[in-house]
Amino acid sequence: MTDIAEQQPTAASTKASLSADQREILRARLVDDHEQTLAFIAQLESDLESIRSSRQDVPTDDEHDPEGPTLAFERSQSTAVLENTKVHFNDIVSAIERLDGNSYGLCARCGEAIPFARLEARPYSRYCVECAERVSH
Ligand SMILES: [Zn+2]
Repeated sequence: MTDIAEQQPTAASTKASLSADQREILRARLVDDHEQTLAFIAQLESDLESIRSSRQDVPTDDEHDPEGPTLAFERSQSTAVLENTKVHFNDIVSAIERLDGNSYGLCARCGEAIPFARLEARPYSRYCVECAERVSH
């Protein structure tokens, strides 16, 4: 009758091996991470803002001003960190969404249960270890 039953026949109950307690532990981590990441993004954005405004105080161009390249480097570093942090933030948000639904803890590629130990280390994991390696290559 349901789509879920089609994909995970009889093993569904054993496959989704997370207990209610485990789900709560992981949810607490994700919520925590969500908050911290949000704060970190805000901090990075204000850092970038101050790098930008301090650049405006430098009257000469980057090539010849000794301060220029440093600021440009700092700015590109911060931008890179900010981008990565935003990607991480999206991972957390979608993990919380999966936790609210029923797909959390199951590998998005092979459908196997992701071990709790892995989820504990990386609650936002979308794949089991094996698939994560394949996906990232
Ligand atoms: Zn997998």
